[in-house]
Amino acid sequence: MQRNSILPGSTIGILGGGQLGRMMATAAKHMGYRIAVLDPTPDCPAAQVADRHIEAAYDDMEAVKQLATCSDVVTYEFENVDLEAARYLEKQGLLPQGAHSLEVTQDREQEKQAMAQDGLPVPEFAIVTTEQELREAVYRIGYPCVVKTCRGGYDGKGQMMVQDGADIDEAVVFLEKANRCIVEQFVAFEKEISIVFTRSVSGEITFFPLAENEHSNHILHRTIAPARVNEKVKEKAVSAAETVAERLDLVGTFAIEMFVKQDDIYLNEMAPRPHNSGHYTIEACNVSQFEQHIRAICGLPLIPVLFHGSAEMINLLGEDIDGLLEDGSAFANAHVHIYGKDGVKPNRKMGHITIVGEKAEDLILLREKRAAMSGGSTK
Ligand code: AMP
Repeated sequence: MQRNSILPGSTIGILGGGQLGRMMATAAKHMGYRIAVLDPTPDCPAAQVADRHIEAAYDDMEAVKQLATCSDVVTYEFENVDLEAARYLEKQGLLPQGAHSLEVTQDREQEKQAMAQDGLPVPEFAIVTTEQELREAVYRIGYPCVVKTCRGGYDGKGQMMVQDGADIDEAVVFLEKANRCIVEQFVAFEKEISIVFTRSVSGEITFFPLAENEHSNHILHRTIAPARVNEKVKEKAVSAAETVAERLDLVGTFAIEMFVKQDDIYLNEMAPRPHNSGHYTIEACNVSQFEQHIRAICGLPLIPVLFHGSAEMINLLGEDIDGLLEDGSAFANAHVHIYGKDGVKPNRKMGHITIVGEKAEDLILLREKRAAMSGGSTK
């Protein structure tokens, strides 16, 4: 055990009260910790399982100080945490993850530059702030390309495809609204994968199996683990993760999303926290991404990861779950998670299911039911 370990019985403060905070909190509860959550939404998913809820805006410094006072250690469940709050908590010695990795991952410019500086493979890119820079970048990078806002985009929000010259005017308007954008080469990838791993305060790293991700409308639809990729790709992904972990001096669970094209990888995005594509670890591994995260931030030794063989995770969006919850047969073999969100909305992540250890024929049933209910196709 490291010196200054935060032991069970102590209180872990979480900035953010969504589903990731909820799953962190339940993992911590299983380990004997108490939980305080700071989130502006009454009865948010994490608050429902926490001992204390500070109902305030993330940048309300009085509330952040309250969280600091009642917590032995603090973490966050989303990367758009207010930097001032993160720096304050770091100064108090309460945020082992530090504010630096947040700062880098909050901004696509810093994120891509950090990766490129370390020689990691990224799609060709340029940062643009004016129409002329945009036109020059698109000319140099070529069609098709993707224009993304440097700050604040998620689940495909804040980005547009530029297929050809006809899209340039729209891209100019997009840039004017965003102020600063990244123009990226479009990678005609064969697969999207992610690597989820955890680093301890002392620099020890454990990896979860690579995950293969399918998106639908830019939102993660399905994760399959282990990813069906060759050894070269696996080695490149692990080595990239090690480089990022050292460079950012990470603590906790972290995820990197990548594109795979033949034997090559291209790093796309990083998340300084547990990730949707790592939810399968709850049932498919001896230690989940959430438990390992709690261990890391509390200064406990990490547990070697044992994977039970194969897993499939499907997100349940607002449009999926209506009616399905009353139909147990739709979830045969599945571990079902519902996040306790108030209000079912299309495209809102309401829960997920995981099937472990076998190819999930029943998921086909689930998709057929969903399609039959929506009158759509069985995507
Ligand atoms: P992001 O918000 O950067 O994670 O992008 C959301 C999704 O858009 C990714 O998961 C990809 O499916 C797609 N995408 C983003 N950037 C690129 C790119 N440079 N080339 C191809 N597809 C991309």
